Amino acid sequence: MSHSPLIPESKLPALGTTIFTQMSALAQQHNAINLSQGFPDFDGPRFLQERLAFHVSQGANQYAPMTGAQPLREAIADKTEALYGHRPDANTDITVTAGATEALYAAITALVRPGDEVICFDPSYDSYAPAVTLSGGILKRISLQPPHFRVDWQEFAALLSPRTRLVILNTPHNPSATVWRKSDFAALWQAIEQQEVYVLSDEVYEHIFFDEEGHASVLAHPQLRERAISVSSFGKTFHMTGWKVGYCVAPAPISAELRKVHQYLTFAVNTPAQLAIADMLRAEPEHYRELPEFYRARRDRFVEALADSRFEILPCEGTYFLLADYSAISDLDDVSFCQWLTKEVGVAAIPLSVFCADAFPHKLIRLCFAKQEATLDAAAERLRKV
Ligand code: PMP
Ligand code: GLN
Repeated sequence: MSHSPLIPESKLPALGTTIFTQMSALAQQHNAINLSQGFPDFDGPRFLQERLAFHVSQGANQYAPMTGAQPLREAIADKTEALYGHRPDANTDITVTAGATEALYAAITALVRPGDEVICFDPSYDSYAPAVTLSGGILKRISLQPPHFRVDWQEFAALLSPRTRLVILNTPHNPSATVWRKSDFAALWQAIEQQEVYVLSDEVYEHIFFDEEGHASVLAHPQLRERAISVSSFGKTFHMTGWKVGYCVAPAPISAELRKVHQYLTFAVNTPAQLAIADMLRAEPEHYRELPEFYRARRDRFVEALADSRFEILPCEGTYFLLADYSAISDLDDVSFCQWLTKEVGVAAIPLSVFCADAFPHKLIRLCFAKQEATLDAAAERLRKV
C-alpha cells in the first residue's frame, strides 16, 4: 500500500523563502552583480583567519561553554565599556550566539508570551515577525516613511497598551540606512518608563555609521539598558558573514531567560571562531574603530558614480546599504523592478516592500555597497545606462 506524505499545517503559512535567498539565487542564475543580500565580496582580516587556524591546530575543537568562550565574553565586556560607558558582567550579562539571527530568535522566544503585543518599526528586518508569531505574540507595526524614516513618538505612545511586552528596534537600520539619535532613545524611555515593556535593540551595524553623533546604543542609556537586550554580530564587523557569531548583552535576569532558549536552540557556538574573534578584538580594536571611514569611502564612491543616473539616491546615515528611488525609470512595483534589473541590467537589488506588512507604494530598492571598488564601479556603470 502506498502512503502519501503527510503535509503539516503550516505554523507560518504566509511565509516563503527569504528575499535574500531568492535574489542571490536570481543574481547567480543571470550572472548579475549581486548587490542584493548584504555581504561583502572581500575577505575579513588576515589576522582573524590565522587565529582561527591556530586555535583549530591547538585542539580547541570541542564544545565551548554554553554562554560563550570566556576570553570572548571578557573581550566583549571591555569593548562595550570602552564604547558605551557600561560594563556588562562577562559571566551573567553576555551570551554568544550563532549570529544575530539566533540572538533575535532566542530573545523574542524568551520574552514574548501568547497574546503579548510587540511593537516594531516597518520597514523591519525580516526575521522579527516570524519569531513573534511562533511565540504567539501579536505584532503592532509602525510604518516609517521615506526619505527620513523617523519615528513619530506620539504615534508610538498611542500604540502602547497594557499588553505591550516588547519593542524591537534596529539602529543603524536595515534597510532604510537611517540611525537613531540619543533623543530617540530618550523618547522611547519616556514612553515606556511606567510599564513593564522590554526592548530588543538590533545593533548589528553598530560600527557602520556616518554622522557625527555616531551610534547611540541602547547600552548607553542608563535606564533603558536595565530592560534591554542588545544584539551584535561579528559577521558585519569583521566582514565574515559566514562565520555566524554574534552576541547579546542584557541584565542578568533577562540573560538567564534568554539562555534557557539558547541552550536548546544551539547550546554553544563554534569554539575556534570564538577564540579567534577574542584575539582579534584584543589585538586590532582599530579594525572596528576605523569601520565608519572604511565604509564611508565606499558609500561616497558609489553615490558619486550614480550621481548622473536616473536613480534618486536617499540619504545614508549608516549600514552598508543605499536606497535608490527608481520612479523616474519605471512604473513596475519594486519586486518586479528588482527582478527586471537582475535579468536585464545585470544588477541584483532588494525591494523594500518585502520589509513592510502594509502597502508600501514607494519605488525604492536597496543596494549593498559592501563591495570591492571594481564591483561598485561596474554596477554603477550598468545602473547609469538604465
Ligand atoms: N539583523 C539585521 C538588521 C541584519 O541586517 C542581519 C543580517 N544582515 C541580521 C540581524 C542577522 O545577522 P547574522 O548574520 O549575524 O545572523
Ligand atoms: N541581513 C542580510 C541582508 O539584509 C541577509 C541575511 C540573510 O540572508 N539571512 O541582506
